[in-house]
Amino acid sequence: MSSGKHLKGVHVNHSKNTAGMPIIPMPVPERVYIPMSMHIGAPCQPVVAKGDHVKVGQLIGDCDKPVSAPIHSSVSGDVESIEQFMTQNGRVDTNIVIKTDGKQEIAETVVPPVINSREDFIKAVRASGLVGLGGASFPMSIKYNTKPGQVDTLILNGAECEPYITVDHAAMLAYAQDMVDGMRTIMKWLDIPRGIIGIESNKPDAIAKFNEILAGSTDISVCTLRQVYPQGAERVIIYECTGRHLIAGKLPADVGCIVSNVTSVLKLQQFLTTGMPLTTKFLTVDGNIVAKPQNVEVPIGTMICDLIEHCGGLTGEVKKILLGGPMMGRAIPRDDFAILKSNNAVLCFDEKFAAQRKETACINCGRCVAGCPMNLMPARLSRAFKDKDIDALREYNVMSCMDCGCCAYSCPARKQLNFEIKQAKTLVMEDDKKKKAKAEAAAAKEAAKAAEAEAAKAAAEAKEGGNK
Ligand code: SF4
Ligand code: SF4
Repeated sequence: MSSGKHLKGVHVNHSKNTAGMPIIPMPVPERVYIPMSMHIGAPCQPVVAKGDHVKVGQLIGDCDKPVSAPIHSSVSGDVESIEQFMTQNGRVDTNIVIKTDGKQEIAETVVPPVINSREDFIKAVRASGLVGLGGASFPMSIKYNTKPGQVDTLILNGAECEPYITVDHAAMLAYAQDMVDGMRTIMKWLDIPRGIIGIESNKPDAIAKFNEILAGSTDISVCTLRQVYPQGAERVIIYECTGRHLIAGKLPADVGCIVSNVTSVLKLQQFLTTGMPLTTKFLTVDGNIVAKPQNVEVPIGTMICDLIEHCGGLTGEVKKILLGGPMMGRAIPRDDFAILKSNNAVLCFDEKFAAQRKETACINCGRCVAGCPMNLMPARLSRAFKDKDIDALREYNVMSCMDCGCCAYSCPARKQLNFEIKQAKTLVMEDDKKKKAKAEAAAAKEAAKAAEAEAAKAAAEAKEGGNK
């Protein structure tokens, strides 16, 4: 089934070199480096100290702020140090460095949670340490903590529309039954009557697998998505599966939906049945200079250089390392960063693949408009950004941009449109902040003036009363 409604997008070259490869666990590295901020929200604080022995699944970092997710050890070994250094996000963060002992002993605390109510379920989701594994890294317990009756549809996101990445596809083939069980568990505790599994049409074996498992079921169905990028973007998959529009600034729950990546639901189901929190990540390692491209299960905190080494190393000089796909992924300057909860791919390219094409003048061809799923005018946004024209950026609805990169991909003038629009959004957000602070300062001044006038009036009345 599908809503029959479609948003625009672009046809990208899929280059899925690892298609059909199963996910193979990587041997535990000598050391892992686990940062205390792997989610949107407040960072965790270490709850272990240098010299402590830790086991797999043991809590090593937590935070009492509502928007956060606990962090667990991915290995057994000794805490070698707790240090501040830069993570792949460009932020300096507290890292727990663990020297592994190779035994991978499981912590005694790893036991399935007892759930008797919606509240217990939300607590268990938080305890799992899960964040959006499709790249967003938003704590899953916050996403699932909706009002009773607010959500009527759970969407399992199996689109995986980014070029090169195949690890969700491999996970769907290996764990389809667990994913369906996970969906039913979520639907039960959050009282969601309908489940939809959205999968791009280029994965017919995964579609067939789910259809086979769901034969005769009425609660969950499969929605075959067109092979058009970006079908996996939250706003796009909601529209394609339900016909509902999610506008900028609103959450999926505002249109009655929760969207979860396939591996997020799988890892949650595994936590609920075994008690093992999130300690490993499924990743695609690919790119034209990776010796042995493959899908790997990696302990969180593994250094990217160790992972590349595990994949046979590089066959040429690296020019670009991407975390995520080429459309929305982020380039990193070095390979000595740790794998975080949100990573789903490491791609390495040489000069030939990564060379920045020279930008030329806009020829007003309109291709960027034709490809934008949000119906924006990227060329005008780019111009308004260069002119620092905040009013025009607002008028052209810049905040609706979801950074999908379709505009830049379509542009024959090779303009870095999405990059400029991303910066334009920051400009507007900073302007909003300034305006808000100014309005608050003006309101505080008015309130102080009114209080002063009130005090003067009271003093005058008191004086008058005394004179009588
Ligand atoms: S303007 Fe934003 S939403 Fe539209 S195609 Fe470009 S990056 Fe995507
Ligand atoms: S696609 Fe590029 S060249 Fe064409 S209108 Fe947009 S910015 Fe200009």
